[in-house]
Amino acid sequence: MAINRRDFLKFSAGAGLLAGAGVETASAAAEAPPQMPKDALGILYDATLCIGCMSCMVNCKKANAEPGGALFHRETEGQIPYEYPKDGDAIYDAPIRLSDKTLCIIKAYRAGDKAVEPDTPASSFVKQHCLHCIDPACVSVCPVKALQKQPDTGIITYNKNRCFGCRYCQIACPFGIPQYEWSKASPSVIKCQLCNHRLAQGKYSACCEYCPTGASIFGRVEDLREEAKRRLALKTGDSYNYPVQHVDGRQRTEKVVEHYVDHIYGMNEAGGTQYLFLAGVEFNKLGFNPRISDMVYPRLTWSYVSHVPALIGALLVAGTVTRLVTQRMERNKNKDQTPTDEADAS
Ligand code: SF4
Ligand code: SF4
Ligand code: SF4
Repeated sequence: MAINRRDFLKFSAGAGLLAGAGVETASAAAEAPPQMPKDALGILYDATLCIGCMSCMVNCKKANAEPGGALFHRETEGQIPYEYPKDGDAIYDAPIRLSDKTLCIIKAYRAGDKAVEPDTPASSFVKQHCLHCIDPACVSVCPVKALQKQPDTGIITYNKNRCFGCRYCQIACPFGIPQYEWSKASPSVIKCQLCNHRLAQGKYSACCEYCPTGASIFGRVEDLREEAKRRLALKTGDSYNYPVQHVDGRQRTEKVVEHYVDHIYGMNEAGGTQYLFLAGVEFNKLGFNPRISDMVYPRLTWSYVSHVPALIGALLVAGTVTRLVTQRMERNKNKDQTPTDEADAS
């Protein structure tokens, strides 16, 4: 969520989309807010409870390297996609940003000066992954429906067999979430799918299941919103029985309430998201882009895209050709490789 050069380029592209939207921009903003499914699922992350242990990151990788997970590849089945080590380095994985191997990242920010703002902690963690927007820009611009919003849970899933690699979703996402497998011959878009593959096994998001403090909890978005509002109504210094892992409160932990900024990030931003945040410091100090407004981004991006059908046609042709060529190259390469070579190459 910090703005780097790539984010700037994305934002610039986004600004181009908005400029192209013209008159529709104003009318889009005035429309009713998008509705989410009754049983939409999501996550509440409370930065005041996060100790930065990164258990969420580690278990996100493990859970998503399993079949059906967002990081699973048939050719590397059984391997967890660590960023490091490479070629026999020590086994320690410390990614610093989202990537094609990292769906979830914990970042630490310098937050306040205790001498000036006694209520503000000196630093704060924040957990970054797909926010599962209620009305997602990435879905709205995908020409082949590789990204889809599930009608019952609202989870944004990705189907690599449909994707032809135009990466329009990367440009459209206001949060800079989707990543691309640049190093692969047949690349996919990579992002958190809220551990959708675990739901069928009666499980839920690994980042919440393995969070020891209750900083990340899973559940129905309506319940998470109620929980977030309850916390904002608490007084600093009170004690509260925080649910751990799941908002249904099967497990709880009693803690002293820290200072909260009076805002639930994700209630309205980008039209509302199924991933919600609470924090003890202003969100713009945690890398959240202050230019992201409450506007529903697909209404803006689609206004632009609908004016340039030729662009979509060109993207479809270019993307499909690229995908076919790279897949053929990969097939030919695999034919020439022993099974050991194949594992090494991927
Ligand atoms: S955060 Fe980005 S990638 Fe995730 S649903 Fe929203 S637009 Fe799509
Ligand atoms: S919901 Fe699953 S995929 Fe998404 S960040 Fe958490 S563990 Fe990773
Ligand atoms: S597992 Fe929980 S406490 Fe640990 S870093 Fe992740 S969100 Fe924070």
